[in-house]
Amino acid sequence: MDNQKTHQLAIIPGDGIGKEVVQEGIRVLDFISKHSPNNFNFETDYFPWGCEYYLEHGRMMDEDGLERLKNYDAIYFGAVGFPGVPDHVSLWGLRIAICQGFDQWANIRPVEFLPGVPSKLNHPDTDTLNWVLVRENSEGEYSGIGGRNFTGRGPGKEVAVQSSLFTEEGCERVIRYAFDLARTRKRKKVTSVTKSNAQQYGMVLWDEVFARVSKEYPDVETDQWLVDAMAANFVLHPEDLEVVVASNLLADILSDLGSALAGSLGIAASANLDPERRYPSMFESVHGSAPDIAGKGIANPIGAIGSASLMLEQLGYAEEAQLVNQSIRDATAAGYLTADIGGNTSTKEMTDAILEALAKVY
Ligand code: ATP
Ligand code: MG
Repeated sequence: MDNQKTHQLAIIPGDGIGKEVVQEGIRVLDFISKHSPNNFNFETDYFPWGCEYYLEHGRMMDEDGLERLKNYDAIYFGAVGFPGVPDHVSLWGLRIAICQGFDQWANIRPVEFLPGVPSKLNHPDTDTLNWVLVRENSEGEYSGIGGRNFTGRGPGKEVAVQSSLFTEEGCERVIRYAFDLARTRKRKKVTSVTKSNAQQYGMVLWDEVFARVSKEYPDVETDQWLVDAMAANFVLHPEDLEVVVASNLLADILSDLGSALAGSLGIAASANLDPERRYPSMFESVHGSAPDIAGKGIANPIGAIGSASLMLEQLGYAEEAQLVNQSIRDATAAGYLTADIGGNTSTKEMTDAILEALAKVY
């Protein structure tokens, strides 16, 4: 860690509640920078990109967007999505453009059950459950290969093709990342999830790479599941899970399931990492822009604050990250709960409670 460094952060609040929750994450980072003994310093530049920008400029971000972002130490991202802009336009025009442009090939999504938050699971001690999804974030089902109207046949007869891309290198790097991550956790276990009985090329390659890499980690326990069975297993035996690695689409679906089981999409954090650190990594809550609750001041900021914690960790401030996570737990345990997790605490009050908990340890 370079204590003298001022970290340059690019902030992309985006649309809807993205704008609201990003502010709360910044409040937490501000607090850390003022109180942490480890000299966490940062400066921010804001980028107004998103769907409203698209409606005005016809682009989700400026043409030289990646060029302008590439020298930042990290990107902190809200959410994109807006009524009237098709989801695939907003997603590909900004979020996926950044993930793929900066080869952020590992998407880390912790599933953490919080004390005081009513879980959807009927499980004896949900508070202790936590696992982490490692999502392949550069290829797979989101490779963008395919097209519309292949046969030129008219309306009602159209044929669209959507191909998945699995490269041996792409599979290997993310699977290896999952094994390395497992070694840092209390229980050393990696679960691989595919649908390789039905997807017989790419996902069989994935399985083969998983088997090969696992031989290099004899200290790490492994298992392999099909995604349909794993969806049921998330509900039935969540205590079996530690590090779960899966392709782009499958891990995306499982992460919404995981966060919903834990209580709400609003509490799920994520990091899009370039583990090789050639480019900035991007930190964002898992939820979208939630237009139904935007502007009401009731969005849950925990996912965004947890994402800021992942950013602290990647910037070299593991202790601070840990304290933020603990303060989130302290705040929910004390009964501060936003509407989505069964309370009536506002967005700002939720952050206030987290800062109050942080103030106790600093
Ligand atoms: P987008 O098109 O941007 O994905 P969406 O309508 O799919 O937006 P999401 O943000 O994905 O909305 O979330 C689905 C629902 O979950 C929302 O409509 C909202 O009610 C709820 N939700 C999501 N995030 C939060 C949050 N942080 N706090 C409270 N509720 C949330
Ligand atoms: Mg959504």
